[in-house]
Amino acid sequence: MSRDCDFLIVGGGIAGVSCAESLAICCPSASILLLTESSVVKSVTNLVPIARYLHKFDVQEQNISDIRAQFETHVDQLEYINSNEHWARTKKGLVIKYGYLCLCTGGAPKLFNSGRAGKDQEDACIIGIRDTDSVLDLQQRLGQAKEVLILGNGGIASELAYELKDVQIHWVVKDSHISATFVDPGAAEFFQVSRREVKEEEEDAKGTQTETAVKRIRYSEIVPSENDESKQRAALGPDWHRSYNLCGGLVNKGRIPPKIHYKCHIDDYCMHPNGKGGLQIKLRHEDGHFEELSCDFIVSATGVQPRHDFETDHSFNISQDGGICVNEMMQTNLPDIYAAGDVCTATWSPAPHWFQMRLWTQARQMGSMAGRSMAAAFEGETIYQDFCFELFGHVTQLFGYPVVLLGRFIGQELGQDYELLVRCTRNKEYIKFVMQNNRLRGAILVGNTDLAETCENLILNGIDLEPYGDDILNPDIDIEDYFD
Ligand code: FAD
Repeated sequence: MSRDCDFLIVGGGIAGVSCAESLAICCPSASILLLTESSVVKSVTNLVPIARYLHKFDVQEQNISDIRAQFETHVDQLEYINSNEHWARTKKGLVIKYGYLCLCTGGAPKLFNSGRAGKDQEDACIIGIRDTDSVLDLQQRLGQAKEVLILGNGGIASELAYELKDVQIHWVVKDSHISATFVDPGAAEFFQVSRREVKEEEEDAKGTQTETAVKRIRYSEIVPSENDESKQRAALGPDWHRSYNLCGGLVNKGRIPPKIHYKCHIDDYCMHPNGKGGLQIKLRHEDGHFEELSCDFIVSATGVQPRHDFETDHSFNISQDGGICVNEMMQTNLPDIYAAGDVCTATWSPAPHWFQMRLWTQARQMGSMAGRSMAAAFEGETIYQDFCFELFGHVTQLFGYPVVLLGRFIGQELGQDYELLVRCTRNKEYIKFVMQNNRLRGAILVGNTDLAETCENLILNGIDLEPYGDDILNPDIDIEDYFD
């Protein structure tokens, strides 16, 4: 069994489908084959520009047979690549000769476990969330559960902690605030307060004034003091948790506020001595004290690791985080092999306002870039890296609020030399500007702020904002008019 194609793309996630779609546009007469192990593929729909380089979009899951695309599809698993001779073999034995190959095989959940042998029974009580099957497993376990431990502080953990019903959540985070992957302590507080204060929200609706506070904070004030209490298989689409009935065994209790355990990690765990199943957990806090709790199972939401479980004739250069190293044209070190999305690690020298984060946005951007890059190589043309790699941008929803993240939005790699300018209107908006040398380096925009494009311009143009002082976030001044 063998077949030929000009372009072979492996993986039916956002990166793979975006790559195939770009190739179909750039090289309409070339033969393009998308190989993926699952018959469900993901594609981007309802693409809406939020600013010049920032887009909001939906991720749609489709059965492979429903795709009406200008590329062929084949369901099977990639098992081996011979990079020298330009062919790949699938698990079922199909040999595919290719001109160019793009690997978009995504990531697998990094499951927490103690690393100790003899914990098989306990480890069966730890699950990761990645694909439809793992959510069905979660759903089934939840039905009997009274207490669940969620481990991790990124988007998945944040969604689960507030979306699960009829169950007590223990949310274990290593940081001093929730959702640390995406937001700062101020925004985390904004979300928690708006969750807590439903009554106050109702009062506001009745006409009570909603106060807006603007504050400038130096880096030294951002670092919490030691005794500060507050510091104490087909992958899924967005809103995945809304498509499933995720209710626990505490019938009719509704949404129970999660118990958040800050600045700690799981030190040890064993089967509960009562013999009824479930785990007994020992948490170790950063200050050295221990805390014990019980749970029916653990949801480990501590990120993903790049997945490349196939063999090759020559080794890929692999980065420290386990991703396949790619240059700015998404090329790996092996001839005519590219990689995009969660499986790869960007090893080019990045623009000052861009960094890699394994998200749909970047899976789409990298997939399209890989497609254009492969098409250019095929046609013998020269192209340049897409402008989207100039500025980190991500549009998402957290706790029901629209969230835009731009540039170095939590001061990533800015050292200690930056200031924050924050405007917060309870239950309405949270705006944070990260400033360095009076220039905007990043922003978090929560709520309908209409500031995304202005911030994009301010970051990219590096405009000196000193003359505007704190007025830059004065709610009575329309900064869009100043700078657009
Ligand atoms: P994937 O979507 O993982 O696709 C990889 C594909 O390759 C899969 O179809 C897989 O079956 C296939 N594959 C793997 N190995 C092989 C093989 N050997 N042969 C054939 N096929 C293979 N990001 C956001 O931006 N916003 C969010 O709100 C968000 N929420 C998330 C929620 C969850 C539960 C998870 C797990 C992730 C979330 N992410 C979110 C991250 C986002 O899903 C990933 O960044 C994105 O899906 C990466 O796309 P990808 O195409 O690189 O990989």
